Amino acid sequence: MKPITLLGSTGSIGTQTLDIVAQYPDRFRVVGLAAGSNVELLAHQVRRFRPEIVGIAKEEKLGELREALSGLDPMPIVVGGAQGLETVASYGAAETVVTGIVGCAGLLPTIAAIKAGKNIALANKETLIAGGPVINPLVAEYGVKLLPADSEHSAIFQCLQGVPAGGLARIILTASGGAFRDLPIEQLPYVTVADALKHPNWSMGKKITIDSATLMNKGLEVIEAHYLFGLDYDCIEIVIHPQSIIHSLIELQDTSVLAQLGLPDMRLPLLYALSYPDRLTTNWQRLDLVKCGSLTFRAPDHRKYPCMELAYRAGRTGGTMTAVLNAANEEAVSLFLSARIGFMDIPKLIEAACQAHDCISQPRLEDILEADRWARQFVQSQLVTV
Ligand code: NAD
Ligand code: MG
Repeated sequence: MKPITLLGSTGSIGTQTLDIVAQYPDRFRVVGLAAGSNVELLAHQVRRFRPEIVGIAKEEKLGELREALSGLDPMPIVVGGAQGLETVASYGAAETVVTGIVGCAGLLPTIAAIKAGKNIALANKETLIAGGPVINPLVAEYGVKLLPADSEHSAIFQCLQGVPAGGLARIILTASGGAFRDLPIEQLPYVTVADALKHPNWSMGKKITIDSATLMNKGLEVIEAHYLFGLDYDCIEIVIHPQSIIHSLIELQDTSVLAQLGLPDMRLPLLYALSYPDRLTTNWQRLDLVKCGSLTFRAPDHRKYPCMELAYRAGRTGGTMTAVLNAANEEAVSLFLSARIGFMDIPKLIEAACQAHDCISQPRLEDILEADRWARQFVQSQLVTV
């Protein structure tokens, strides 16, 4: 039985990971669970999966969590706050930590897990985008594996099995096109939060659903691919594929192109990150190509979706710039979700933050944390001008 810990257990990634654990009770065992603030669901998960340790980021809710768990025997260790999350991430015999926290809040717990020798099943892309310059050296230093759980990067990783070193020439990331793929560009400034939350193919947390509508999600995934697979930004491309059946492709040095296909279901990349290098048998719905009919592709429209270009630019600059891009995006998305700015203000605020940032090219962790803090404050300070 593989012992695993799950950060962000109450979210979309977290609950789907627990679905997998429930389906394979003799393959996986939960050592630790942690979430942001949803005490009710977290307590329910603790009763069902019986972890040794449980953490809640919102420290004020610690008492409520303890109460919700009262009578449990054996009682797990209960911790709270940012430090508590790091304790859960590094605790006990867990071999793999699934990072399902949303945002850069996942950075320090992920680092704690790496330093405790845990493999990382990475869903929390913001951590790698902001922290790439320090995460990659730590992964090498502690000899752990960074296993992609994002569907595109899992597809690339699956295609790469058996490819010799130096064989990878190009990555082609597929994008569904998000909520507004068929909306004329002139209408984008007037879309509402509810419109932007209607994703055509995937059911996910709010932040990534907005990122999909702006295509920043794909921009972030370009940077994620750069840090995971080491390719230059000129060799990472985006193609719109509205059916979300091909999850991404790689081109090899001899021009052979390999793709991974499947129905849009996050459980598959999560399962592979947990079972790697093994494959497990599932009873999930199988892909029927005849039912799919046609798979189509088109070039992304950079005028309609400026976030992609902003991400390429930040990625090429490197250093603390990707942390600024990420933090400005997190802040802008949160402002959009609370209806304080319009949809097209999101790229404007991110661009302004990146332009104003004094980039540190070889940052330490403190520089990244400071860049993250600065960018959030910068976006807030711009509010009067948007
Ligand atoms: P979500 O909003 O559904 O869940 C987020 C989880 O993080 C919740 O458990 C929440 O309690 C926890 N959380 C939030 N803020 C926190 C904080 N400050 N400290 C600790 N925990 C906190 O989000 P999601 O859709 O599950 O996405 C999680 C991550 O996975 C994101 O980085 C996203 O980009 C990535 N991802 C998600 C999907 C998907 O299908 N949902 C696909 C690919 C990648
Ligand atoms: Mg993805």
